[in-house]
Amino acid sequence: MRPERLNPLFASADTLKGVGPKLEKPLNRLGLRRVKDFVYHLPDRFVERRQVADLDEAQVGEHIIIHLTVTDHRGSSTGRGPFRVQARDAAGNMVALTYFGRASYSARKLLPTGEARWVAGKLEQYGDMLQIVHPDHVSPDGAAVMGAACEPVYPLAEGLTQNRLATMVEQALGLVPNLPEWVDAGLKEKRGWPDWRDALVLAHRGGHREARDRLAYDELFASALALMLVKADNRRRRGPSLQGDGHLRDRLKLPFSLTGAQLRSIREIEGDMAQEYPMLRLLQGDVGSGKTVVALTAMLIAVEAGAQAAMLAPTEILARQHYETLTEMARGTGVEIAILTGRDKGRARQATLMGLMDGTIDIIVGTHAIFQDAVNYRNLALVVIDEQHRFGVGQRLLLTQKAKGTAHCLAMTATPIPRTLTLAQYGEMEVSKLDELPPGRKPIDTRVVAVERMDDVVAGLRRHVEGGGQAYWVCPMVHENERADLAAAEERFDALRDVLGDRVTLVHGQLPGDVKDANMQRFASGEMQVLVATTVIEVGVNVPNASLMIIEQAERFGLAQLHQLRGRVGRGAAESVCLLLRGRALSETARDRLALMRETQDGFRLAEEDLRLRGGGELLGTRQSGEHAFAVATPEQIGDLLEPAHDDARLLIERDGGLTGARGDAARTLLYLFERDYGVQLLRGG
Ligand code: ADP
Ligand code: MG
Repeated sequence: MRPERLNPLFASADTLKGVGPKLEKPLNRLGLRRVKDFVYHLPDRFVERRQVADLDEAQVGEHIIIHLTVTDHRGSSTGRGPFRVQARDAAGNMVALTYFGRASYSARKLLPTGEARWVAGKLEQYGDMLQIVHPDHVSPDGAAVMGAACEPVYPLAEGLTQNRLATMVEQALGLVPNLPEWVDAGLKEKRGWPDWRDALVLAHRGGHREARDRLAYDELFASALALMLVKADNRRRRGPSLQGDGHLRDRLKLPFSLTGAQLRSIREIEGDMAQEYPMLRLLQGDVGSGKTVVALTAMLIAVEAGAQAAMLAPTEILARQHYETLTEMARGTGVEIAILTGRDKGRARQATLMGLMDGTIDIIVGTHAIFQDAVNYRNLALVVIDEQHRFGVGQRLLLTQKAKGTAHCLAMTATPIPRTLTLAQYGEMEVSKLDELPPGRKPIDTRVVAVERMDDVVAGLRRHVEGGGQAYWVCPMVHENERADLAAAEERFDALRDVLGDRVTLVHGQLPGDVKDANMQRFASGEMQVLVATTVIEVGVNVPNASLMIIEQAERFGLAQLHQLRGRVGRGAAESVCLLLRGRALSETARDRLALMRETQDGFRLAEEDLRLRGGGELLGTRQSGEHAFAVATPEQIGDLLEPAHDDARLLIERDGGLTGARGDAARTLLYLFERDYGVQLLRGG
């Protein structure tokens, strides 16, 4: 049970004053559902304001606090156009306080002619006039405005203002309890970190680096602890020792021989599966490195040993594709493979459920439907999870619990993340790396093209299609406004169909599942030559005849994600091309990142560089690709603090594995705070 002192933090947002149904939507969009979310809604930056005696002291563009006397009102406060309050400073300089729209109405009352007011805002030049547009603060009370000398700027959503959000955060901070210290005393002292509660308050008051670092460390430490508890718990469990005799693997007829990396990974997996406790292994391999056949081999070992295996895919499309690939590869082995997704209904579904229960099905492929309550296995002993990064640790645990916590687990990811992040996200697992591509792969010719050349790009696509080629066209999902993103994809689809005719199809997340699959299928079969897609094609899709990839607004994607997308081509005999369309005004970092895509096809290198280049706070890519498991810690802080967090977590668990001492107790609180409760639950079970 969650410690009681955390309850105020987990109270719902509407217990804060001023939070009503109207704000639910914008707050939800920011992930602000409970009091706790507000205190961890850290400012992006701070506005620093300087108090000036008169305007001669101030610079245009500067945020100032100044005492002014109102001389005149100009313009209507109800009609169109700006409403201007003319004011004079102590030296007789004039400045306009400019308002638009409804704010004009209250401005008239707030700033009566002839009266003096303290004003805070950004000084701007408009023609030869100085002005402050929509001052941030206006008050007769100097102290109140002076208090705004340093103010947080929060990530906002439509329907919220800085002031309103700040008031809510303030209230939430007032509810923060004192908690026992979970950070190691020596480390805390060495780094000069404040107590947890003080750190939260400070992080909202200014750019206090120590405070922010401490909060990031808390998150990393919670994650490390949880992962280690999972690992320790796993060691205590008994799992079936699976040793195949090779009779099924011998019947596999592959059209290629395995790479050294594949053979090594298979040996590692085989060794794990023979153990008396469940395997927890991550197979990390770049797009196209051949993970599927490794997974199949592992599943065949389980079947040889008389057990069942399941393969979980994150999407319907991928599940179907895996089903087909595996069926094809395993032809001639006599192994029974079936598929189960949320869309299988009625008699077919019943038959599959029966087959799983009586053991006539050896291998099941599917979406999370394969772990629903209604699904019972005769003797499930291996779970393969594809595209692991889509699933959190908690979900992973649920899955293996389906096999009474004793199934071997092989997770696979095509996201070649940097070493530090591997530790953060998969710290509880052993890692096998496919760091070698199958021979004969041709490099993909990658080019960065300015969006101004759209006509050329479309003309090139047309030639490609007329020559019988297939192509992907990817539109970004920026997530700030999903509807607008989808509209953009649909618009592109229409535009391309105008040029190319009925050879273009569309896939995006909002299409009904069967439509999505049908469209995907028509592209895979070659009936359609161009697939316009949002990033739903990111994972796993395999259409070897597609040799052209066009990515719009490439700068909006993370490098790892671009790399994955690019990996959709270069799978067949033809030379492949990847065009990265870039927007007009690019930051230097964005330029560097795209240049790097041109330079290298090594996913692991791209991942390392991505982390390095994004260190400067450019987080868009990470958020978008969902590879970033942390809400508080930035990539920079992860680089700096993750290893100490892991070391410390290991030490604590070695010393106090049941987390029963004073610090252990504090650590439990931390796990609840960061909702890694499954770690605590394992303690109770073990
Ligand atoms: P991923 O790691 O992205 O899941 P896949 O398992 O889909 O990669 O493999 C990509 C392609 O490479 C498939 O067409 C597969 O048949 C082929 N492949 C896998 N291993 C080898 C190998 N050792 N030699 C040649 N081709 C291989
Ligand atoms: Mg794959």
